[in-house]
Amino acid sequence: MEFNPSRLRLARQRRGLSATALGQAIEVNPRTISRWEEGLSDPLQTNVAALSEVLGVPASFFTAPDAEFVPVEAVSFRALSKMTARQRDSATAAGAIALDLARWIDARFRLPDPDVPTLEGYDPDRAAAVVRERWGLGQAPVGNLIHILEAHGVRVFSLASDVASVDAYSFRTDGVPFVILNTEKTGERRRFDAAHELGHLVLHCGDEVPHGKEAEQEAQQFAAAFLMPRSAVLASRLHNAGIDQILRAKQHWKVAAMALTHRLAELNLLTEWGYRDACVRLSQMGYRRGEPSGAIVPETSQVLAKVFKSLRQRGVGPTDIAESIHVSHNELRRHVFGLTPMAVDGDKGGGPSPQSPKLKLVGGRRS
Ligand SMILES: [Zn+2]
Repeated sequence: MEFNPSRLRLARQRRGLSATALGQAIEVNPRTISRWEEGLSDPLQTNVAALSEVLGVPASFFTAPDAEFVPVEAVSFRALSKMTARQRDSATAAGAIALDLARWIDARFRLPDPDVPTLEGYDPDRAAAVVRERWGLGQAPVGNLIHILEAHGVRVFSLASDVASVDAYSFRTDGVPFVILNTEKTGERRRFDAAHELGHLVLHCGDEVPHGKEAEQEAQQFAAAFLMPRSAVLASRLHNAGIDQILRAKQHWKVAAMALTHRLAELNLLTEWGYRDACVRLSQMGYRRGEPSGAIVPETSQVLAKVFKSLRQRGVGPTDIAESIHVSHNELRRHVFGLTPMAVDGDKGGGPSPQSPKLKLVGGRRS
C-alpha cells in the first residue's frame, strides 16, 4: 500500500502538532516530515510505526485515500481571531474525520434529506420564526434540538474534547449541513451552540461564510430567538421577573439562566437596572459558568445511536467501524458523543474477527 502524504498532514493537524514537534517526537529532522507531507520521499516502515504511535492512528490511516478536507472558508468559528492556526487546523482535521465517518454511514443508511432553509439577509429573529414554522415547532419550547436538526438532515457530530478552544462549528458540503459540537459544556450551552450553528447555516449560507463580529451576533440573536420565541416569551408573565422566576422559566425553555436573562432584557421585559441586578446576582450564584440549580442532560445524536445499534445487530461493532475509517476506537468515540460502548478486552485490535462480517454486506437501504 502506498503512503499518502495528505493523510500524514491530516493526522498531524488533528493532533495539533507542528512539523517540528512531530519531528522531535519521532526523532527525525522536521524537514523530513515536510518532505513526507509534500510527497518528495516516503517514510520507512519503522517511521510509519513511530508516526502511528505518536499520532494515535493505525498505520492504515496513512495509506487510505485522500480525506475530504473541511473548507476553512466555509466554516464559522466563533473565536477565529483568538485561535491559533494550529487550533483551527486541528478542529477542521477533526471535521475531516467526522466527514469520513458520515460518508461511511451514507453508504449504508438512508438518512433524512437536508431541509434547512437558506435565508440570507433576513433579520435573525424573523429567520428563526421562519425555521420554527417550517419545522412545525409552534411556539413551544424546543424539544431535543439535536434530534430535530437530524430529522431535518443536519449531520451532527461531537468535537473531539481535545479541541477545547472551539465551541462548535458548522459547514455545508455538497448541500449537506454539518454541525460539530463541543461536549465539554453544560446541556444548556450545548443546545445554545447547536441553535447558534443552525443560525449560521440559515443566515450565512454562501460559499464564503462571513467571519466577523456581526455574523457572530446574528447567529447569537438567531439562537436566542429560536430557543425563546418572542411572542411566547412576551406572553409568559416574566415582566420584571425576579431571580426565582428566571430560574423556573429557564427550566421551561431549557436554556442557561444567563441566556434567558439576556433575552428578557432584549424584549424589554427587564429594565436596564433589573437586567444588571439579575446578571450580578446570577453571576454570584455561579450561573456564568454553569447551572448550579441543575443542568439538563446534554443532548446527543439519535441518528448515530440508531446506526450503531443497527450495525451491532448485524454483528458490526465499533471497532470494525473505526477500522473501516482507519482510526482507533477511542478516536471514533470522540466524534460520536461517546455513543459507542467502551472498548473491552477482546474487542480491540487485530483484523476483523470471524464473526464480524465484511462491512460491505451491511448496507443496502440506500435508494
Ligand atoms: Zn458562530
